[in-house]
Amino acid sequence: MDPNQTYLDLFTAMMNGEHKTARELAHSLQQWLRNGGFYPHQMNPEAMQAYLHDVLRRTAYVDLPPEQQIMFYVVCPECRCHVEIPGDAVGPERTDPWNVVGCDECDTIFDFDDEDVAQVQMPAPR
Ligand SMILES: [Zn+2]
Repeated sequence: MDPNQTYLDLFTAMMNGEHKTARELAHSLQQWLRNGGFYPHQMNPEAMQAYLHDVLRRTAYVDLPPEQQIMFYVVCPECRCHVEIPGDAVGPERTDPWNVVGCDECDTIFDFDDEDVAQVQMPAPR
């Protein structure tokens, strides 16, 4: 396997919202690294592991039954865009009482309460 290409394919799949593909690529890249394979030249090991962890977290829903494929988001107070938050950041499962998120669009940092959180069905995996 060519981890450089796999990383690029993975990055592209995430950009295009092809989460099922991305998840498969992330798993094979993770397996490759576990077996002592070299890292993609674009990334240092720490950044690569962090990215893989992030991808696997964000795509975990594709393994769930459809009724559980729920995405949570809050609305940015500045630009009104939707900021995705993890499922464990809301409700009774909430792990962190001081939830603070940063908006990708305008870089505003804000905190939110459970009642600020909206949820939508995930896009169907392609
Ligand atoms: Zn914003």
